Amino acid sequence: MKYAQSVVDLIGGTPLVRLNSVTEGIEATVLVKLEYLNPGGSIKDRIARKMIEDAEAAGKLKPGGVVVEPTSGNTGVGLALVAQQKGYRAVFVTVPKVAQEKRDVLRAYGADVVVGPAGVAAESPLSYYGISDQLAAEIPGGYKPDQFSNPAAPESHYETTGPEIWEDTEGRITHLVVGAGTGGTVTGTGRYLKEVSADRATGPVKVVVADPDGSVYSGGEGRPYFVEGVGEDVWVPNYDPAVPDQKHAVTDAESFAMCRRLATEEGLLVGGSSGLAVTAALKVAQELGPDDVVVAVLPDSGRGYLAKIFNDQWMIDHGFGEVVSTSTGTELSV
Ligand code: PMP
Repeated sequence: MKYAQSVVDLIGGTPLVRLNSVTEGIEATVLVKLEYLNPGGSIKDRIARKMIEDAEAAGKLKPGGVVVEPTSGNTGVGLALVAQQKGYRAVFVTVPKVAQEKRDVLRAYGADVVVGPAGVAAESPLSYYGISDQLAAEIPGGYKPDQFSNPAAPESHYETTGPEIWEDTEGRITHLVVGAGTGGTVTGTGRYLKEVSADRATGPVKVVVADPDGSVYSGGEGRPYFVEGVGEDVWVPNYDPAVPDQKHAVTDAESFAMCRRLATEEGLLVGGSSGLAVTAALKVAQELGPDDVVVAVLPDSGRGYLAKIFNDQWMIDHGFGEVVSTSTGTELSV
């Protein structure tokens, strides 16, 4: 019989698929890695497993332990399912502006969600960072993984995401394109691919960061943007600036328009950071030839963004599209 011992064993091993429509006029092969096929629905399952397993090995998480992290997004889902399978409780700290639906997802996995007060400075003990520090210290057996600084996060990508891409492309990948939030993906995957290809006749893999316009990683000043999960307004420990060779700033409008094209033309319903990565990947691929292989990592599914990126009214209200007349009625032009 062919089955996994636990859902945790199904994390990783995601497939690559070629883009065929949005790549019109491009000679290079453009492949995308579908991280929404992880059991928790995002790339963050990978770091969740490694952070918890490393904490167990180091004796920081013991039977009866409690995982405490300030997150309401994909990392929370990954931690919730891995913690549950390994017999730990999980408590997530979030802020009121986070959609009720995201909290409900975490609670559905059996996790506890604490909502801190709104409008509190990051340094305050009442910020969601502050509350999570306090809970991790006060709850018996509490452990805070801290995805922004935990070396297990980039290591999980060095050990899994990077080797998977190298093997699946049979060592022919020429460019890796990824968004960076905590930086774990670019640091771990990029470092592995550059090392493994260092002596290759065609030269090492080039690592490209796709960054929201306004984020510090591509020279911005931390100006706000709508695309979620990527970009930062401060530099964070797990982002190694030595790994990327190029950075491309991408606007929200470009990212969201690409999400809609990926859904309608490629059958890929993916989130804003995936639209961002593909936009940058196509900009890179335009300059390349038929022997080049560009791989973009798509971190999560579009299901979590149906009320935003895939909602015409939300797009219009936020200035990302306009209603145009067509022969059959009206449609959103993005
Ligand atoms: N996209 C989404 C949707 C994410 O949640 C994250 C994680 N913050 C990323 C991209 C970026 O990944 P990383 O934190 O590894 O840089």
